[in-house]
Amino acid sequence: MAIWVIADKCTGCGLCAKACPYGAMLVEDKLASLGPRCTQCGACLEACKFQALQSDLDQEPPPDLTGYRGVWVFCEVREGAPARVSLELLGQGGILAAELGQPLAAVLVGDKVESLVPELAAQGAQRVYVAQDPGLAVYSTLAYTRVLSELIATHRPGILLLGATPLGRDLAPRLSRRLDLGLTADCTELAIDPEGGGLMQTRPAFGGNLMATIVTPRARPQMATVRPGVMALGPRREGAQAEVVRHPVRLEPGDLLVRLLASQTQGQRPVDLTAARVIVAGGRGCGGPKGMDLLAQLAQALGGELGGTRVAVEEGWLAPARQIGQTGLTVRPELYIACGVSGAIQHRAGCLGARYIVAINRDRRAPIFSVADYALAGDMFKIVPALLSALKGAA
Ligand SMILES: Cc1cc2nc3c(=O)[nH]c(=O)nc-3n(C[C@H](O)[C@H](O)[C@H](O)COP(=O)(O)OP(=O)(O)OC[C@H]3O[C@@H](n4cnc5c(N)ncnc54)[C@H](O)[C@@H]3O)c2cc1C
Repeated sequence: MAIWVIADKCTGCGLCAKACPYGAMLVEDKLASLGPRCTQCGACLEACKFQALQSDLDQEPPPDLTGYRGVWVFCEVREGAPARVSLELLGQGGILAAELGQPLAAVLVGDKVESLVPELAAQGAQRVYVAQDPGLAVYSTLAYTRVLSELIATHRPGILLLGATPLGRDLAPRLSRRLDLGLTADCTELAIDPEGGGLMQTRPAFGGNLMATIVTPRARPQMATVRPGVMALGPRREGAQAEVVRHPVRLEPGDLLVRLLASQTQGQRPVDLTAARVIVAGGRGCGGPKGMDLLAQLAQALGGELGGTRVAVEEGWLAPARQIGQTGLTVRPELYIACGVSGAIQHRAGCLGARYIVAINRDRRAPIFSVADYALAGDMFKIVPALLSALKGAA
C-alpha cells in the first residue's frame, strides 16, 4: 500500500500527526508529509477530515472474497501424534465455525498420518484434508508451503489457524507471503465480527500495554497463529467421524532443498508446563538459586512443575523453557502459586487461565494480588517452608 498527500486539500491541521502512532507524519508550512518512520498503517487516512490523504487501496477494486468458506486448523504432528496446540485450536475453531454456520476442518500433512483422523474427529473436525508423502515425513518449509498453498487454492477456506510453535511460526509467514495473505501472530482471542462476519484477531501490542484487534478485510483465508495453552481444549466426542479428503502430493525437486541428516533429542525429559496441573512460579523475590530451589521443593511436594518470570530466567535461576508470560508460555494449570512475583501485565498474560492463583508477596500492593484467588502477604522465605512442613505433616 502507498499513501500520499494531496497538497491542494491539506490544511496543515495536524489531525493526521496526532493519529499517527509512529510519529511519522510531519506538518510544516501548513502541509503534511510522510516521514521515513511511516509503516503505511493507515491511521492517518481515517483521521484526515479533508480527504487530503489517499492510498492506492482506495483505487483498487475490492477483491472477490466469495466462495471462501470454512474454518481450517493446521494439525501439527509430533512424534506420531497431533500436537496439543492443534487440538486446542480445533476447540476454538469449532466455536468460530458454529458462529459462522460453516464446517470445521483439520489439515494433516506428513507421511502415514491418516491414522490420526479419528483423534481429530473426536476433537471436533468434521472434515480432514490429508496430504501424505514420504517427502513430507520431516517438516520442511518449502514442501509444506507447496502442499498448503495447493490445498487453499483448491478448497478456499475462510479462516486458517496454526499453532504459534517453531513450526507454525516458520510455515505461516511463508504461506502468507506466497499467497499474499494477512497474518496475525500470537493471538490471544479470536472471535467473529457480528456485523461483517470477519475474524477479529486480538493480540498484545506495544509491549503488551494494549490489546489490538486486527481484521483482514481484503484477503482470504484470514490467517492467525495462537500460542500453546492460550485456547482451552474443546469437549471430546469419542467415536465421532470425519470426512476424509485426500490431496495428491506432487513435490518438485526445488521443494526438497533441505535434507535432515541427523536429529538429536535432549537427554533430559523435556518440560511441558502447558500440560502441568500445578505450577509454582518464582520471580525476582526468590533472590537467587537458593530461593528457586525452595520453590522446586514445593512444586515437587505438590506433584507440579517449577516456572517463573522473565527476570528469573534472565538472572539464570531458571531455564528459558520455564518462563511464563507474553514472551514465554501461556499456562492453564489447576493451581498456580506465584512467589516473589510482582505480576507485571506481561507475566499475568501467561497465567490468567489458571483455575486458582495463589500469590505470595511481601508487598501488599503488588499487582499479582489483583488476580489472585488467595493472597498471602508476607515473606516467601517464611511462608513457603511453612507450606512445605504442612504438606509433609498432611502426607
Ligand atoms: C515486551 C515484554 C515482554 C515481556 N515478557 C515477559 C514474560 O513473558 N514473562 C515475564 O514474567 N515477564 C515479562 N516481561 C517483564 C515484565 O515486564 C516484568 O519485568 C517481570 O515480569 C517482573 O518479574 P518479577 O515479578 O520477577 O520481578 P519484579 O517485578 O521485580 O517483582 C519482584 C516481586 O517480588 C516481591 N518480593 C521480593 N522479595 C520477596 C520476598 N522475600 N517474599 C515475597 N515477595 C518478595 C516484591 O515485592 C516484588 O513484587 C516482559 C517485558 C516486556 C517489555
